[in-house]
Amino acid sequence: MQDLTEPILELVRLTSTDLPADVEQALRQAVEREAPGSAARGALETILKNVALSRANSTPICQDTGTPLFYVRHPAGWSTRSLRAQIESAVAQATAHAYLRPNSVDSLSGKNSGNNLGGHYFPTIHFEEVEGEALVIELMLKGGGCENVGAQYSLPHSQLGAGRDLAGVRKVVLDAVHQAQGQGCAPGILGVAIGGDRGSSYYASKEALLRKLDEPNPDESLAALEARLTQEANQLGIGPMGFGGETTVLDAKITHLNRLPASYFVSVSYMCWAYRRRKMVWKDGQVSYS
Ligand code: SF4
Repeated sequence: MQDLTEPILELVRLTSTDLPADVEQALRQAVEREAPGSAARGALETILKNVALSRANSTPICQDTGTPLFYVRHPAGWSTRSLRAQIESAVAQATAHAYLRPNSVDSLSGKNSGNNLGGHYFPTIHFEEVEGEALVIELMLKGGGCENVGAQYSLPHSQLGAGRDLAGVRKVVLDAVHQAQGQGCAPGILGVAIGGDRGSSYYASKEALLRKLDEPNPDESLAALEARLTQEANQLGIGPMGFGGETTVLDAKITHLNRLPASYFVSVSYMCWAYRRRKMVWKDGQVSYS
């Protein structure tokens, strides 16, 4: 079996220091929507300068390099135990190179492990065996501030008047954006999952964030809801970093899971403007990144 520690280290460096093109493009479009001289426009311009500097200097886009979430899809025959060891080694090396801030803290003692390893879920790695020859690793770095404003709703929700349908989903997602205000480092991207149990629903809401901003939802009704939520969230006036303005979210990504007849969960994972996600493909001994 190949040792992929080096290519995975490069995946971590890219993810932490080089914002994906679709996200940067959305931020550039957002600048044009904001009034000249406004605090909102100033915040977005500062963000874009920071993005360019981070790329040029290979330094983290944000001081909080977040929770590393790996999604590994591997052909038959790969050892997940070995892949886990390689990913953990790459994460520790990335921390030593300062591509990642030491972020893994023992919840009981408060002690920081110093290398972004520790416990069962740091880093979090999801494995799935797939057909074909390519090994694909996607990495998302999920910041703490935006994770704190994620929310889960059990429908029906009488206070919000939200029933068990897409109209109800719309109400609770807009409530989550309103509650978050600027604290998730707006403009955000909304990962939304409808259905599942509490655990799978949150899991799916994060996985939904792997879909690129310019990649449409294959389900027409969900695509329409994504567009409507983005438009309506941007009418809330929260704006970049909470300064007010036209851009509170850049996009919404919605997925759905089967559920029990008794339950109807809607989970919202809020991703900040530092929407760090990258993909590595390993095939026939060659690596590529996107
Ligand atoms: S929420 Fe995102 S942009 Fe804000 S501090 Fe955390 S990682 Fe950085």
